[in-house]
Amino acid sequence: MLPALNSRTVDAVQVVRVSLPLVQPWRTAHGVIGARDAILVRAVLGGVEGWGECPSLPEPTYSAEYTDATVEVLDRYLVPRLLEAGVHRGAGVAGALAAVKGHPMAKSGLELAVLDAELRAGGVRLAAHLAARCETPAVPAARVPAGIAIGVTDTVDELLRQVGRRVEEGYRRVKLKIQPGWDREPVSAVRSAFGDDLTLCADANGSYAGLTDPAGRLSALDAAGLAFIEQPLGDDDLVGHGVLATRIATPLCLDESITSAALAEAALSLGACSVVNVKAPRVGGYIEAVRVHDRCKARGAPVWCGGMLETGVGRAANIALASLPDFTIPGDVSGTGWLFEEDVISKALDVDHAGHIAVPSGPGTGVEVRADVVAGAKWTRWYRRRGAG
Ligand code: MG
Repeated sequence: MLPALNSRTVDAVQVVRVSLPLVQPWRTAHGVIGARDAILVRAVLGGVEGWGECPSLPEPTYSAEYTDATVEVLDRYLVPRLLEAGVHRGAGVAGALAAVKGHPMAKSGLELAVLDAELRAGGVRLAAHLAARCETPAVPAARVPAGIAIGVTDTVDELLRQVGRRVEEGYRRVKLKIQPGWDREPVSAVRSAFGDDLTLCADANGSYAGLTDPAGRLSALDAAGLAFIEQPLGDDDLVGHGVLATRIATPLCLDESITSAALAEAALSLGACSVVNVKAPRVGGYIEAVRVHDRCKARGAPVWCGGMLETGVGRAANIALASLPDFTIPGDVSGTGWLFEEDVISKALDVDHAGHIAVPSGPGTGVEVRADVVAGAKWTRWYRRRGAG
């Protein structure tokens, strides 16, 4: 029997690829990104629309996912399974897609779209929903401290200019991208110029993996009083991180290694890190991200919310996630203006002068996608459930 029309199941999904010029190129140990194609997904659930974002990068350098592959896996495998499964809640999406291995960012975008539609229909904010899903149900914060990541620059002077601009804008935490040859000098220059009150940390994106003595190199950063060094070694090198953690004074944080709540538990058990960067798209969605939060909280490890150069859609969801209680370190939770010349949402997410960003107050993610952005998409396709109107 065909499903009834307008039942409260996912009736249709739209995948939208939009091209967004960056204000300036983004440079890390993984390479340089000059323009960003964002993959947005719209889910229609019982006549209510919700939006999600699949923030894979243009090339498979952060993880195996990349933009073209995300479009393909959505088109061929994920959206058909989602529509076939008759899913009616965000919490049902991961199970409907579980037969497909990998592609957590693609799955996360679909889950967020369905969750957003479900919550909009019920008049519930995403932050309140995620807080209610915690092992110890919590009250989400009304605003979260903003932090920003700054890519590798050509010179230390240019880096100091960029950090100075962000500190003036109110950011309370600055994360510097580092790599062998771009570490001790820029980090100590920023610490000297901005003093000990600035929460400073460094992200290596795995670039110290090939060195014979990463501890020798990274212990040179201990004097800078960093809050943590993030992902110095390879994604799968939990034991190596555990050994390194005993040889340097700066706490270690893991990013690329943490692909699930189970991996977070393993990393903390092995002493591979004492801080965890939670990125919902990297662990397959916001519901799994809450589980990562809970595992870390149970082990006394603080977490913070990382970013994947998201548009306002994913950024709003990250802000909701960062409002949970164990997010005690300011994350890569920033306003929408610094990255893209123009964002996809109708009302900007701004950092206030005290360095905070308000958790959106409307139901779902609380942000609206601009119709003109969708109309001007580089590529888009609608998918409908068999039997849906
Ligand atoms: Mg990172």
